[in-house]
Amino acid sequence: MLDTAPNRPDLPPEIARRRTFAIISHPDAGKTTLTEKFLLFGGAIQMAGQVRAKGEARRTRSDFMQMEKDRGISVSASAMSFDFKEFRFNLVDTPGHSDFSEDTYRTLTAVDAAVMVIDGAKGVESQTQKLFEVCRLRDLPILTFCNKMDRESRDVFDIIDEIQENLAIDVTPASWPIGMGRDFIGCYDMLNDRLELMDRADRNKVADSIEIGGLSDPKLDEHLPAAAVAKLREEVEMARELLPTLDPQAVLEGHMTPIWFGSAINSFGVKELMGGIATYGPQPQPQSAEPRQIAPEEGKVTGFVFKVQANMDPKHRDRVAFLRMASGHFKRGMKLTHVRSKKAMTVSSPVLFLASDRELAEEAWAGDIIGIPNHGQLRIGDTLTEGEALRVTGIPSFAPELLQTARAGDPLKSKHLEKALMQFAEEGAAKVFKPAFGSGFIVGVVGALQFEVLASRIELEYGLPVRFEPSQFTSARWAQGSQAAIDAFTKANQAHIAHDNDGDIVYLTRMQWDIDRVQRDYPDIRLTATKEMM
Ligand code: GDP
Repeated sequence: MLDTAPNRPDLPPEIARRRTFAIISHPDAGKTTLTEKFLLFGGAIQMAGQVRAKGEARRTRSDFMQMEKDRGISVSASAMSFDFKEFRFNLVDTPGHSDFSEDTYRTLTAVDAAVMVIDGAKGVESQTQKLFEVCRLRDLPILTFCNKMDRESRDVFDIIDEIQENLAIDVTPASWPIGMGRDFIGCYDMLNDRLELMDRADRNKVADSIEIGGLSDPKLDEHLPAAAVAKLREEVEMARELLPTLDPQAVLEGHMTPIWFGSAINSFGVKELMGGIATYGPQPQPQSAEPRQIAPEEGKVTGFVFKVQANMDPKHRDRVAFLRMASGHFKRGMKLTHVRSKKAMTVSSPVLFLASDRELAEEAWAGDIIGIPNHGQLRIGDTLTEGEALRVTGIPSFAPELLQTARAGDPLKSKHLEKALMQFAEEGAAKVFKPAFGSGFIVGVVGALQFEVLASRIELEYGLPVRFEPSQFTSARWAQGSQAAIDAFTKANQAHIAHDNDGDIVYLTRMQWDIDRVQRDYPDIRLTATKEMM
């Protein structure tokens, strides 16, 4: 077995030991439970359950969070760091609900790999499929955990077939389950020839693994009922014949996913999965940027903002920008250049997210995620460097699919509403357009649920009742071209023109026909559905 992923043996050890990943899953598959167990085995928390318990306490603070809870969605993403053996894991939480796909997409630009959790009884569900497609766009390596094997699950070959077929990826079993449901005993570790047995007595404990000299080893018969051994031997033989063997390079390229079976709630299979992330997961990867790529081992620090969260602590009105370190060794108090504004910025109180508590980050390396409290200077897509004018690319902003007009419940408060909306726009929670003509704001989102979330956050965090009303427009496109072309275009189309929160020109319409017409009549203008954030 390899000690680390075979991609970059030359990386500095501090960088080589980092694994930065997200979990993708369908709601209810067990992401939260698995996260808790990661933290438990990562030594970040004393006892599993704390994440949830703390989460509950926090949630009761606001109705907004209550809504998260009621709907079973997680709106606020966070990053957690913990150690496993000699490795440092950075787990970036993705919002689970499809209405937050844009946020999720951007989160996935900040990780090097994803762990896909599926429910053994349900297989590949819709949300998993969607998130997988996003990972596929970037060829992210995927490691799979098939959860809830302590319940009646589907046939193992069926599950593997379904993943291979629906997701068009090779699947190789890293472990093989022995029995299922009430008869689930444990797994055979196919990579290390070990027997892992589940301890049903203590959900937070893992029984010692038993070294086995291969499937013919009589030790198997000592530890397992005869029928289970026979079935295991037969199935594993078949699996070895029919399924591809693990190819670490194919895993790193995103063409093959190893699958572990287990039961997160019983802490079973979690350590093996963590071992898999350490061994087969990618080290921090190079980052695409202009005018050149950034390599993680570069001596100088670079990083980019992939998420901004406002009002994490309602008492302080703070804003935290989540920075993925792309290269170098960052130390607290460092002066970095904010490339977009060309201004220097001293990062004096960066935050590292250890488990669910925030802690001051004294240092960070390529691969790490740090939070930088700020007053709005940092936006999604921003690059920080030690002076070089690099701009990280590939963090898109999508054209919203739903547009509504926002109105303050109290007309005297519309200035306040503007401020609130601009904050959410910077956070990336919505697009806010100010029409060139007329009053009010047009708010665009990717999923309908976001309007509700926005309304309740504006009310809670700013004390402003707000109404969302149908807008006369249904589509928004960014207009690009020379200044002269833009001027001529906006002048002739005033009623359709708005500015986004960066001041860029947006063309609003309700008909595809209009968009086609503009493309025909204004060959110098380009209408785009995405705007790369810069
Ligand atoms: P999430 O929505 O993906 O974060 O899922 P949760 O971690 O909240 O789990 C959803 C439900 O499945 C909860 O009731 C968990 O207790 C339960 N669950 C999680 N893992 C397991 C498991 O291994 N076996 C069983 N039987 N239930 C589990």
